[in-house]
Amino acid sequence: MSYVLENLDQSFYETVLDALNDGVYFVNRKRRVLYWNKGAERLSGFSAKEVLGKSCADQTLNHVDDKGSCLCVKGCPLASCMRDGISREVNVYMHHKEGHRIPVSIRSFPIRDKSGKITGSVEVFKDNSQHLSMVSEVETLQQEVLTDPLSGVGNRRFADLSLERLQSRFEEEQAQYGVILADIDNFKNINDTWGHTVGDRVIKAIARTLSSVLRPTDIVCRLGGDEFLILLPNASVSGVEIVGKRLVMLIKESWIDLGEELLSFSCSIGAAHSSSCKTTGIAFDQADKQLYMSKGGGRGCFFMNDKRVCNYPDS
Ligand code: GH3
Ligand code: MG
Repeated sequence: MSYVLENLDQSFYETVLDALNDGVYFVNRKRRVLYWNKGAERLSGFSAKEVLGKSCADQTLNHVDDKGSCLCVKGCPLASCMRDGISREVNVYMHHKEGHRIPVSIRSFPIRDKSGKITGSVEVFKDNSQHLSMVSEVETLQQEVLTDPLSGVGNRRFADLSLERLQSRFEEEQAQYGVILADIDNFKNINDTWGHTVGDRVIKAIARTLSSVLRPTDIVCRLGGDEFLILLPNASVSGVEIVGKRLVMLIKESWIDLGEELLSFSCSIGAAHSSSCKTTGIAFDQADKQLYMSKGGGRGCFFMNDKRVCNYPDS
């Protein structure tokens, strides 16, 4: 870092950078992390000690874009700006140490030495989730009775209340909505192989990904076991398709670090839209049938209107 902070007191910079809410880190030309501020620790869950000296692609942040492409392999904004000297701004999904994905917007800048030669680059990232959706809504209202204690999202009771609310708005204002059901694939296997505690971590990671990548008005509930309900008020059919595809991809692109290995997991998803259902009860049953089709269709995929919307990764 000395080449960046030349002539200035390093601790002064570190104090300033640590006071930011944004995550900030520097890498050298080999993409080894030289500096990691407190904001980066807070947003990613990784401490400076865990990251310094490692490559940023070493099972730490591993950004993916909204198509699921891993930027570490192709399109790393840090590598690109070191190559052409041009700063960049891009929205990606970052891996959190606990295993979930968080939407972040990142800016990358080249670092130059006195002669103008590029010696590294800086990334500044900030939490882009608009959410605090279910988790914070429930917390704010202090409605513990409506929260699932393991995952922090809404529980079955909250799911029922939310479905009733959607139904009233549908009858009174013809407000459209989407219903998505997600069920973890082969979850029994995960419990049997790694134990219940690891199974619980997978449930938590998925719940966090679901709640952090949706809009503030969307609702995430755990219906019990390994099944989640996602409600999308005011969504169009194509909106439901986009969300469903994104969720299948982001869950598949998540993992939990078990020390000896990285545990990946997937969900199957089924969805329905209000335009083809008279009631939320019918929409729920239809989404359930679609989920069943996704399981039968090989898992890790998404069905709607009896059609496969996506397989992730494409196969
Ligand atoms: P499929 O792909 O067909 O969904 O297979 P699966 O193995 O995931 O089957 P299923 O969805 O029926 O399995 C749910 C499992 O979830 C069974 C149960 O042991 C486990 N489970 C239920 N609640 C919890 C929990 O709170 N924590 C953990 N770790 N496991 C749970
Ligand atoms: Mg399951």
